[in-house]
Amino acid sequence: MTDVAANLNRVAAGIPEGVTLVAVSKFHPVEALRCAYDAGQRVFAESRAQELAAKAPALPDDIEWHFIGHLQTNKVRSVIPHVALIQSVDSARLLQAISSEAVKLGKTVDVLLEVNVSADGTKTGMSPEDFAALTDEYDPKLYPGVRVRGLMGMATFTDDRTVVRRDFEALRQLFEKLRAGAFASAPEFDTLSMGMSDDRDIAIDCGSTMVRVGTDIFGQREY
Ligand SMILES: *Cc1c(COP(=O)(O)O)cnc(C)c1O
Repeated sequence: MTDVAANLNRVAAGIPEGVTLVAVSKFHPVEALRCAYDAGQRVFAESRAQELAAKAPALPDDIEWHFIGHLQTNKVRSVIPHVALIQSVDSARLLQAISSEAVKLGKTVDVLLEVNVSADGTKTGMSPEDFAALTDEYDPKLYPGVRVRGLMGMATFTDDRTVVRRDFEALRQLFEKLRAGAFASAPEFDTLSMGMSDDRDIAIDCGSTMVRVGTDIFGQREY
């Protein structure tokens, strides 16, 4: 049996002040989440709309849920009522869909833009080109239902820590550039979500403000 509480305490102890620990609970049963909750964890992330919709009502309502998976536009409506932050906005079209759905519900939804800086051909996140097209002259009036809080990204899937560091540095630079540029008048643009079980130390070193940790807390996922 995985000792979720002990794992959580160990992970949390390694996370500096000012960095938010998000417990990535996808594919783990509600009982495992309950253990983390009882050990003090309040921020959890899921990657599938249905799983989120099933788990959220089964757990205490002071949990802050994040969404970190690829989100189809037709699932936006079912996700919004549960989430505090959608970290995985990977297209302008999705941003538009979240905004218009939020407006209909009379809400403002916090989001992160997911950008792909890795060199390994994975397709998660916006390409640098699409990202530039959306953000170079970002106009918040086009997306009245969302608040862009920052960026989310992943490093290249590799054991080469030099490559991982390079990717996180690239994310950090993009974040700083936008903070001084297109989002200079948006103080809420304050979140740089990067770092997972295997690379959070490097990410924190490179300026991460939010780490997303699954395996090191809950053990291996069973798909
Ligand atoms: C699954 C997932 C994580 C957690 O990964 P671990 O290696 O288990 O810590 C973090 N971020 C995203 C976007 C994920 O999909």
